Amino acid sequence: MELKIHLVPTGEIILTPSKDGGCCCTNCFKVVGSEGARVTMESALTARDRVGVQDFVLLENFTSEAAFIDNLRKRFKENLIYTYIGSVLVSVNPYKELEIYSKQHMERYRGVNFYEVSPHIYAVSDNSYRAMRTERKDQCILISGESGAGKTEASKKILQYYAVTCPASDKVETVKDRLLQSNPVLEAFGNAKTLRNDNSSRFGKYMDIQFDFKGAPVGGHILNYLLEKSRVVHQNHGERNFHVFYQLIEGGDDDLLRRLGLERNAQQYQYLVKGNCPKVSSINDKNEWKVVRKALSVIGFSEDEVEELLNIIASVLHLGNVQFAGDEQGNAQITTETQIKYLARLLGVQGAALKEALTHKKIIAKGEELVSPLNLEQAAYASLSLSLSPLKAVYAGTLVQGRTFSWLVNKINESLAYQDAEYPGRKSAAVIGLLDIYGFEVFQHNSFEQFCINYCNEKLQQLFIELTLKSEQEEYEAEGITWEPVQFFNNKIICDLVEEKFKGIISILDEECLRPGDASDLTFLEKLEDKLGGHAHFVTHKLADGKTRKAMGREEFRLLHYAGEVNYNVNGFLDKNNDLLFRNLKEAMCQSENKILNLCFDQSDLTDKKRPETAATQFKASLAKLMEILMSKEPSYVRCIKPNDAKQAARFDEVLIRHQVKYLGLMENLRVRRAGFAYRRKYEIFLQRYKSLCPGTWPHWNGRPADGVATLVKHLGYKPEEYKLGRSKIFIRFPKTLFATEDALEV
Ligand code: ATP
Ligand code: MG
Repeated sequence: MELKIHLVPTGEIILTPSKDGGCCCTNCFKVVGSEGARVTMESALTARDRVGVQDFVLLENFTSEAAFIDNLRKRFKENLIYTYIGSVLVSVNPYKELEIYSKQHMERYRGVNFYEVSPHIYAVSDNSYRAMRTERKDQCILISGESGAGKTEASKKILQYYAVTCPASDKVETVKDRLLQSNPVLEAFGNAKTLRNDNSSRFGKYMDIQFDFKGAPVGGHILNYLLEKSRVVHQNHGERNFHVFYQLIEGGDDDLLRRLGLERNAQQYQYLVKGNCPKVSSINDKNEWKVVRKALSVIGFSEDEVEELLNIIASVLHLGNVQFAGDEQGNAQITTETQIKYLARLLGVQGAALKEALTHKKIIAKGEELVSPLNLEQAAYASLSLSLSPLKAVYAGTLVQGRTFSWLVNKINESLAYQDAEYPGRKSAAVIGLLDIYGFEVFQHNSFEQFCINYCNEKLQQLFIELTLKSEQEEYEAEGITWEPVQFFNNKIICDLVEEKFKGIISILDEECLRPGDASDLTFLEKLEDKLGGHAHFVTHKLADGKTRKAMGREEFRLLHYAGEVNYNVNGFLDKNNDLLFRNLKEAMCQSENKILNLCFDQSDLTDKKRPETAATQFKASLAKLMEILMSKEPSYVRCIKPNDAKQAARFDEVLIRHQVKYLGLMENLRVRRAGFAYRRKYEIFLQRYKSLCPGTWPHWNGRPADGVATLVKHLGYKPEEYKLGRSKIFIRFPKTLFATEDALEV
């Protein structure tokens, strides 16, 4: 049995059954022993040392990264994967199932004060929920960390916590089901096996959970960000395409596959063989297919809609298998008629129109249409573009309107939309938002995608700084304590460098994308050098004295991010930012009888003279909107850490972890949190715990708790610089003061 040392005021130490180590103090810890046994003070203190502190602000040496990592390691070894930095939860992926997510565990965290129980994702969930209920203020939980760190798992655990612990009714049950079932659907279409994670989310997700006045979940809304759509046509070695393709091929019944013209063999499809990784031991595609099909029904997709969706999925696979050859003139011809037949049927387009779209190019010049054949090289590209179009359709929809991935998200949103039966149009009472979004990415080779992702992280860091400092300041004000300014690095300068109008990197990139003539990735880099050469956070290989910086490639620029330096290779920046489809491919899609494609590619694509916004500008706008949403809410943070690259349990790779501690900005986080006071507690709680230390407050204090605490600390000999008394809380500056008090309890 797992036991806990319980420190009783009389000085005895008795082993009691552990309630998951949950206790009101920072000093309780689990030990192994028989119930009722008495342990020596020495072994108790060794145990405390063994499991580390549950809040990093209590580390004596709080500026030391080594002490930070040491504490993390101690706890990880004991399967204590959660630790706080103040109210921020740090979570280390255990890579094994821990017995800490049962219904009983949920109950333990329900309605309990944050600090009275050991750190847990449920504590954060509950804290946000109660703050929403009592303060009537919208909340959000921001989850960050690198790929494989456990963000999506954390967000699912939060959702499950609400599904189990919030009030229920028949209608609410339906909503809960739909909220939960939206995960497998979005994961099928937006997650894939990568080298880092067998179930890697290839898009960013923000989800609002809406609650009514009784605190029951009544609806939801999802926003999606920057899907990695290039994965549909290419996967790196050891990686896969989006799960749904394999699920359909493995799990779809014979009839369905026949209708779609698919064989039950992923190896047949060009788009599924690039990574040479059709099977993954941790994934059962056949079973997952059943889960996804059921989830689609629960969410309310009609049979017809599912059919149309699968037609698009199958079309993508057929498109990947279309082949071309050159005729005598070198013009492209399609050599795979079967694929065209299937495509025409599945997409509901004329085969001839599709063939022409694939092998010809159409441009409008001075109001006239010009159609010309494509040579072989161009045709191969056109096919890529077309396959990019349903894939754009299915997966991202950055072009013009959201397209089908967004269609999918919209469809889910319709099903989750809150409708008050008595008062139609009435909004939900409050919401809790969950943000599960890519963390900082630094690879050997960093491209446009990493640039966007890291820009997003700069914005989130900025929000974090602003909101953390703001809430610290507000707490001090509310408590009537003088605010002591905190020194911190304000990364606004880097956000501006990326996003500022006319001068920022995105503006310069857009300018090159719009410039006719010789614009290329390299001319873009030159422009950057010209305009940003002197910026403190921007570097290229060119040195001011005309010499070359050796450590950098000639196609690279470096940004000095708040978390560290990243070199970006400009190769492909213009194409990825432009994100265009050939005109006649768009026309073919617009004529499609497939209802989903029809919605995704509407005629305005063709008639609208205005150039669609570039990918980076769209992303910038969606981030600005996200910041606005988050700003209006009270945030909580979950910082996820991956312990090793091998996806193995019980392996703590210190180098890798140090890297993440740096990129998650945890030391900075701790510094800001510790700048003022390490510890703060409501008077009632503080008094209850320590009243036995002072004859004046023991066994009962009959006056105001604030006065009781004043009497208590005076008796304990706290020096004036060690603490402050606010309106409802005591603030203690150093952990050692608190520990001394704790130790006094034990003697
Ligand atoms: P990405 O950015 O690639 O989407 P992520 O941060 O969302 O990564 P997850 O998919 O949440 O990572 O986690 C990766 C894997 O780690 C999970 O599939 C699961 O096997 C394991 N894992 C994560 N968190 C936990 C946990 N709390 N308990 C047990 N296993 C976990
Ligand atoms: Mg994920």
